[in-house]
This record gives sequence, structure tokens and C-alpha cells, in this order.
Amino acid sequence: MEKREFIKRLFTAKDCAVNTNRGKAYYDALYKKCKKQLDKLEAAKPVKNIDLQEELKTNGFSRRTFLKWVSATTAMLMLPPTFEPLVAKAAELMNRLPVIWIELQDCAGNTEAFIRNDGPKIEEILLDIISLEYHETLMVPAGYQAEAQLNNAAKHFKGKYILIVEGSVPTAENGIYGTIGASGETFIEHLTGLSKNAAAIIAVGNCATFGGVPAASPNPTGAKGVMSVIKGKPIINIPACPANPINIVGTILLVVLKGQIPELDSLLRPKWAFGYRIHDNCERRAHFDAGEYVEEWGDNRAKNNFCLYKMGCKGPMTFNNCPIVRYNEAVNWPVGAGHGCIGCSEPEFWDKYAFERPIADANIKAPAGGVESSVDQFGLGILGLAGAGIVTHAAVSAIIGKKSKSKEEEKEGDKDE
Ligand code: SF4
Ligand code: SF4
Repeated sequence: MEKREFIKRLFTAKDCAVNTNRGKAYYDALYKKCKKQLDKLEAAKPVKNIDLQEELKTNGFSRRTFLKWVSATTAMLMLPPTFEPLVAKAAELMNRLPVIWIELQDCAGNTEAFIRNDGPKIEEILLDIISLEYHETLMVPAGYQAEAQLNNAAKHFKGKYILIVEGSVPTAENGIYGTIGASGETFIEHLTGLSKNAAAIIAVGNCATFGGVPAASPNPTGAKGVMSVIKGKPIINIPACPANPINIVGTILLVVLKGQIPELDSLLRPKWAFGYRIHDNCERRAHFDAGEYVEEWGDNRAKNNFCLYKMGCKGPMTFNNCPIVRYNEAVNWPVGAGHGCIGCSEPEFWDKYAFERPIADANIKAPAGGVESSVDQFGLGILGLAGAGIVTHAAVSAIIGKKSKSKEEEKEGDKDE
């Protein structure tokens, strides 16, 4: 994609818009469809004989805590509260879903994000409920035994399993940079073979979705995301570095609930999770609007949680729900902890966004109507258009810069006297 075109797309990105106002008739029809799907699933035999309620009880979760989680998850999935009983049912029926999870060119960070908790949480218990037939990092068998388990699962659940892929696909020199198993099968062959009989593929993390860090220039292994290699299969992309476990569980839950893949944007990301920019929900946004920016790491503005745009935050160009769902059991998220967003849920993020300065070629121009008119535009909520925000940022901070400079000059003057 041409660089300029890429930036233009980020600034317009109509395909990413979330329609949250679909009307009663739409939700009534959807409710009926989901109910029918869940009834069908309930009649089917569980793939794994684990009962969610039993598991919750064993791990010390009360029914009340579970219902609170259901309520929050329903809202997170952008469904009305009437869907709560269906979401609870879908969680209970996740044991009907066979899943094969493979790792290609990766650091296993997405798996790690799932399992690194102080204690089990509901998402992690749901990972136990899903019939996870194969997962190289988590499973006990290794070597030939692991290969046999994979082949058996793929054969037994032919056409029914969800294939979760973590890691990029090295495609240079016929894929020799990544091989697996005794046969020396390349990652391309491994992925292609398992994709053939999968019901759907979920690519998790930036490597599996867009090539990630292995695809950074000069990309010696020819790393690509799954969607660039596999054609003709339903693919859902859950990018980020790592993908948020909540987004993985939420997407699987929607697949169980609706019996189909959720609504996706043009980069195959579920709109419920990637329909908004980081900037749209950032807790530092009021400072952006007021033209208050951190100018240097550790300065007083940083200590007061001012906006990180001038320190290179790419929140205005990045679609993800981090400010809402956060990481590590919702304790915090990167911008909350004091570092700008590096756009890890966007294609080619390592080369395009992962540096600590604002994008130089974003075509920033001073607004024609002057600063005041841009401030009004912010007030009207036009800031969904990040381009307008950046234009205003440039102009507003120029004024602020001048003001603070003159204050400093005044102080200097006072000292001299
Ligand atoms: S530029 Fe970054 S820190 Fe500033 S409001 Fe937007 S997302 Fe938040
Ligand atoms: S804040 Fe930005 S860089 Fe950080 S995890 Fe979210 S999308 Fe990725």
C-alpha cells in the first residue's frame, strides 16, 4: 500500500465505524438467531466434559461474580442487556468448540498474555472450557506424541475446529526459515494443511495478522500474516502485541453465540473490539483537547498525565479497545502507564509507528480558520477525524509553546531583577 494512501485510510477509515444504533427489529431478529444457534449447540454432545459452573466454583468464583462478568462482557461485545442470558449460555457451551492452536514465527507472547495472571480469571477458565485439542506451549506431550495428537484432532474434528494461529509465516526461499516436526514440514505447509479442514481461522497477535516484528524491514524471512497466505477460508484477525486475551475470548464467544464470524473491518478485525481509535477513549484526551502535552520524559507534564502525542503516541491512528478493556486483569494499559501507543494493532506497525516522535509526513498544516475555529471543532466532537486533531495539536501547541516561553522569559526577567 502506498504510504500516503495508508495514512489517508487511517484518517478516514469509514469501514471501521461501529454501528451501535441498529434498532429494535435488528436486535429482535439477532436474538432469535442466537437462541436457535445455542439450542442447536446444547443438543450436541460436549467435546470436553468440563462444566463451567463447576470450574467457577472450584476456582472460588460465585454465581454473582460470573453474572457481573456476563453483564460487562455483553456490553463489551456491543450487545444490549437483553442478550445477557444468551452470553451466559454461550460461555457454558464453549465446551462444544474444538480448537487447535498453532505457533509459527513468534515469541508465544499471546499465549503468555493469556496465562500470566496472579490467579485464574474467568477468561482463563473459559480457555480450559474450550476444547483445546492442541497447543504446543501448553500441552504435556512433545515430539512424536504431540504430532500424533495434532493429526488425530485434525482428523476427528475435520471441518469443525477453529484454528488459532499465533506467529507470522516465513515465506522467503520456499519457507525454509520455519520448519516443524520430524518431517521438516515448512510453516507454510503446516498452516495450509491445517487450514484446509478448519471451520474458521483466528489469527492472534500482530505477527499472525500482519507479519508483526518478524516482518519489520528488511524482513529477511519474508514474514507475512495468515491472511496473505491462506485464501478462501473465513479469517478473523485479532492483532496487537500481544493480542488482549479479552478480545480473543470475546471473539470466540461471539462465534459460539452467533454461529458465524462477527462483523469485521477491511483488515478482518472484529469491529466490536477494533471499531474505535485508542485516541477516542483515551483518559489523556482532555489534555490533548486542551493542548497540554508531555514535552520530555519525566517532566512535570508527564507527572501530571498530560497527552503523549508529542512523545510519539500513535493513538490517533490506531484502532483497538485498550483504553476500555486494558491489560493484566484491567489493571492498566500502556498509555495509562505513561508511554505512548505504538500502533501495535495496525499493519507494519514496527516500521511505521514504533518510534518516539509524531509521524513526520502526516501532512500537518495549520488550520485555515485559525486556532479558535479548530478548538470549536473539537468541541463539536469532530475529533473522530484524527487528522483534524493533529492539525489542531500543531496549531494549539504552537500557541502554548509561545505562552510558556514568554512565562519562562518573565521568570528569567524576575530572577535578573
Ligand atoms: S495522542 Fe495518545 S496520549 Fe494523547 S489523547 Fe490521543 S491516545 Fe491519548
Ligand atoms: S496502547 Fe497501542 S501499542 Fe499499546 S497495546 Fe494498545 S494498541 Fe498496542
